Amino acid sequence: MTLTRFAPSPTGLLHTGHGYAAMVAHRLARERGGCFRLRFEDIDSTRVREEFYTAIEEDLLWLGLAWDGVAVRQSEGMEAYQHALARLQEAGVAYPCFCTRREIEEEIARMASAPHGPEGALYPGTCRNLSHDERAERIASGLNPAWRLDASAAASQTGSLTFTDRRFGEQVVDPSLLGDVVLARKDIGTAYHLAVVTDDASQEITIVTRGEDLLPSTHVHRTLQALLGLKEPEYLHHPLITDDQGRRLAKRDHDRSIRSLRESGTSVEEIFASFPSCVEYPTPN
Ligand code: GLU
Repeated sequence: MTLTRFAPSPTGLLHTGHGYAAMVAHRLARERGGCFRLRFEDIDSTRVREEFYTAIEEDLLWLGLAWDGVAVRQSEGMEAYQHALARLQEAGVAYPCFCTRREIEEEIARMASAPHGPEGALYPGTCRNLSHDERAERIASGLNPAWRLDASAAASQTGSLTFTDRRFGEQVVDPSLLGDVVLARKDIGTAYHLAVVTDDASQEITIVTRGEDLLPSTHVHRTLQALLGLKEPEYLHHPLITDDQGRRLAKRDHDRSIRSLRESGTSVEEIFASFPSCVEYPTPN
């Protein structure tokens, strides 16, 4: 059975880009008699606001994109993320990182050729080679580390991998594309990549749909799935909705929020009619 999901963060109102993402996931599920799930990606408690859970649900219902079952909150699944992190630690593919954001920036500025990925400079690997004793000493001194993926150790354990995207076709995984990503932040004990992979597996999502800006992340996700022995879903990275200047929408674009469009009299049909269509996934009416 086809299972899709829409996974917004309740840190702001939905804009039309979110509406489009939700519509793609909803249609894929409905066309195949499958299920469409709603999952709140709310692990970052520093940015989440309670009012946005309700606002997101109301906007989805107004758009006619009802979800099946109860909406899930990632903040309620922390134990599963800790369990997944422990497995990666035991496998020797996760290491503690004591760097502050500032130290990382300074280190990058000092390096003659800092490693770069599609989204800019990558973590330069400062803590990767700390000895066992150095790590233990820092932890004993009360420092609380973040945990990072050792991408090259991971690659040698997984061997070569691929994933299939319905728009972009088969992709060969580059496990180092985003460098040694953070698996668990110091302050919240998990992070996006680990949480999304854990949840997509436990919720048995068969097609992960999301914006094409997240295509590089899928290289990390496929690597984590292989390391954790999780089933591989199919992917559909859809185009992003942009404004008149071709810039992708952000939560700060309040005038493009579904809420303000609705309040100014725009109909659901008009919103759907503004979405791009594409043969690889269901087109708007
Ligand atoms: N929470 C992410 C977002 O709001 C979605 C990530 C995903 O679908 O994997 O863009």
